[in-house]
Formats: sequence, C-alpha cells, structure tokens
Amino acid sequence: MATGETPSSIFAPWSDRLRHAAIILLAAGLALTVLVAFGQLPLPLAAAAFVLIVAAALVPWQIHNGSASPGDIRTEDPVEAAAVNAIVAGIPDPAVLLDRAGRVIHLNAAASQLAPALRKNELAQFALRSPEIVAALREAIATTQPRRATYLDQVPVDRWMELVITPVPVPTRFGGVDKCMLMTFHDLTPLRRVEEMRADFVANASHELRTPLAALSGFIDTLQGPAKDDPKARERFLSIMQAQAKRMARLIDDLLSLSRVELSAHVRPDTMVDIVPIIRQVVDGLEPLARERQVEIEVDLPEPPVTIAGDREELLRLFENLIENALKYGASGGKVIVSLSTVVPAKAGPADAVPEYRVTVRDFGPGIAPEHLPRLTERFYRVDVGDSRAQGGTGLGLSLVKHILARHRGRLLIESVPRQGATFTACFPQGKSPEVA
Ligand code: ADP
Repeated sequence: MATGETPSSIFAPWSDRLRHAAIILLAAGLALTVLVAFGQLPLPLAAAAFVLIVAAALVPWQIHNGSASPGDIRTEDPVEAAAVNAIVAGIPDPAVLLDRAGRVIHLNAAASQLAPALRKNELAQFALRSPEIVAALREAIATTQPRRATYLDQVPVDRWMELVITPVPVPTRFGGVDKCMLMTFHDLTPLRRVEEMRADFVANASHELRTPLAALSGFIDTLQGPAKDDPKARERFLSIMQAQAKRMARLIDDLLSLSRVELSAHVRPDTMVDIVPIIRQVVDGLEPLARERQVEIEVDLPEPPVTIAGDREELLRLFENLIENALKYGASGGKVIVSLSTVVPAKAGPADAVPEYRVTVRDFGPGIAPEHLPRLTERFYRVDVGDSRAQGGTGLGLSLVKHILARHRGRLLIESVPRQGATFTACFPQGKSPEVA
C-alpha cells in the first residue's frame, strides 16, 4: 500500500486513483493557463472548463471509492492509516492485516519474527510455509468468512500454533470501507503441555490404583476358590491384601493432599508456628520404622522457638516425607541426621536473597544418580519403581514436598553423591511476610 511508504513524495499519502486525478488536473490546468496566456481562450471560459475537468476527474474516483471491486482493494487508503498501523503493532500476538486479495497491509514485529518472509504489499500466501495456513487464507479470501487453523511450527523449536483469520471492515480516508482481513497467531504450546500433563497424571494415577486393585481382586478369587479351605494360605493372602489396601489408601491420601495444597498454593499460611516441635513429633512418630530398618536418627535442633508463617499439618507431612524417604531408601547407611540451621545471605550474594531456616535431612545410603535429581519432584517419578512400590511408596511424596514448600515461599535443595547418601534441605524464608502472591 502506498500509505506512509514514501513520506518524501508529495503523492505518498494518496491512493493511486487520487494520484491519477491530480495528474490530470495539473495537466489540464497547465494547458488552460497556456491557452489563456496566448489569448486563445477567454479567462471565464477557461475557468469554467477547469471546473468541469475537476468534476470529471474527481467524481468517478469518489463513486469508485465507495464500492471498490475486489481487485482494486489494494489501492484503497484506510482512514487513519497510522492508527490502524498502531493497533496492529499493539496486538501482543503476531498479527497481520491483509487486503481482500491477501496482500499484506500492516504487520507487527511479532509477525515478522514468526514469518520473516512476510512483506508489506506482497501476497501473504507466498510468504507462509504451512499448507494449513495457506488453505485457511485461500478459503477466507474466497468466502470473506472467518477461518481458523492449527498447525505445527517446527522452526526453530516445535510449537503448536493457532491461526485466526477475521474479516474486518476498515474505513477508508474518503468515506468508503475496505474489507480487510486480520490474521492473528496464538501459541497453543503451553495449553497443549498442560493438557498432556493432565492426561499423563490421570493415566499414572489410574495405573497406580489399578495395580493394587488387580492384586486384591486376584486374591479374593483365590480365597473364594482354591484357597477356600486353607487357613494358612488365607492368613498369608489376607495380610498381602491388607498391604495392598493400605497402598491404595496412601495413594488416595497423597492425591488429595496434593490437590488441596495446589488449590491453596496462592494463599500463604498466616499462622506463626514453631517448627522445632513439629520436627520432633515427626521423628518420634518414625522411631518404630527407624528401629525396624536399624537406622539411628540423629537430631540436631536448636532450642525452640524457631517460628515461621506456616501450616502445621502441611509441615508435618513435609518432614514426614523427607525423613521417611531417608529411612526407606537410605537405610543401608545406618544413620539419618536431621538438623536445623539459620542461614544469612552473604553480602556479595544475590540482592533478593533473604535469611532462611534450613531443615536438612541427610542419609548415608546409596544416594541418587545426578540424572535423576532434576526430575525427583515430578509426580510419580521414581528412580526405581519396583523399589518404591516395595517400600509402599506412591511417587508423590517429593512432589507434595515441593508444593508445600512453594506455598510457604520456600524451596527444596537436593544434593547427592552416589554411594555416599542424599541430602534433602527444606528452606523457609525467615519471619512473617504479609505479602500474598
Ligand atoms: P516415593 O513414594 O516413591 O517414595 P517420593 O516422591 O517420595 O516417592 O520419592 C521419589 C523417588 O525419589 C523415590 O522413589 C526414590 O527413588 C527417590 N528417593 C527419594 N528419597 C531418596 C533418598 N533419601 N535416597 C535415595 N533415593 C531417594
């Protein structure tokens, strides 16, 4: 489009048709002036002729402008072209304004980045690679109806994109209307990822529930059939069934806790709680497990109170998960150390660092290979699924720990040297902050 393209030209802001009219008028004016100057035409007659020529040059243009034919749309001049340009530029997603023939009128920076081959005044079909876009664009041009298409953009990384083509009437400078098309692109990748995560989660949860359920129904069949009159087998099967039922109950408990914590993730706990007695209560509760696994729990806690803004029940769950994991997976080390320290950020450290209370649970078991560390807090992620199941694990414990810490504005540090044990540290910001994210 001519508008704004060559600001140095005196014709630049006009449409082609107006420019033609101006050229005719200039030529006619010049000819009439020469005739009058050489006395070939009286001035009043020349003036009347000029008025007629002006009318003849402008009226068809004005009529034409009001009812432009599809092929001529490019020559129309959207009113307030600068405003139209600014609106397209201000759309946060990639956006391209096309004329009725599919030529680019305006495009914003995001669109240039998405499709660097797009150029003003050129047909968009030639610049867009994806066949889905080209098909949608052709249909929109043919029908002047809105169109949508989704496609996979593979450069530079895979992204699921949605294209929306919306017909928009753009008023022209001289009172007409250009039927343009606004093409916007939306990145659907985050939505798709959430959708995939949700589907994965449902699949994992169903699988985890189905396994003990299958075992239970298998044993029920056996007890009703072959083992009906075998008291020894009955005792053995009933205790296995009890363990499976416990596993299901634990899984459901963990799922419910996880969804509860997620629901309240944005509300920071506002009650001040002392974490020292909470840790002691958890350690006392896990003494029987420690004895069973022949692990000594060493506790190194300061004198109370060490208070943080926290949710008591959630903190019990958090410490229970960390210490129980150390007893289960690190039992071979024979010792677990639970300690609490205060960490003040170094002056040279990051500006947003705050003083923290750190609760560290250290074991001396087999440790965790480095490739597993970043994934440990994912739901249902386990280094060894068989081992976790044998220990009654659900694969949700550390995910729950991460969510509880996030709600407390804290963070989880995991360090491990294979064969030397693992250290899980729950960090809590000190003091009560009224801020709620
Ligand atoms: P689970 O219910 O399986 O214990 P978690 O989310 O609590 O689930 O832990 C995830 C996995 O992390 C465990 O299955 C285990 O493989 C590994 N893990 C957790 N704590 C330790 C530890 N202290 N030492 C070694 N591996 C651990």
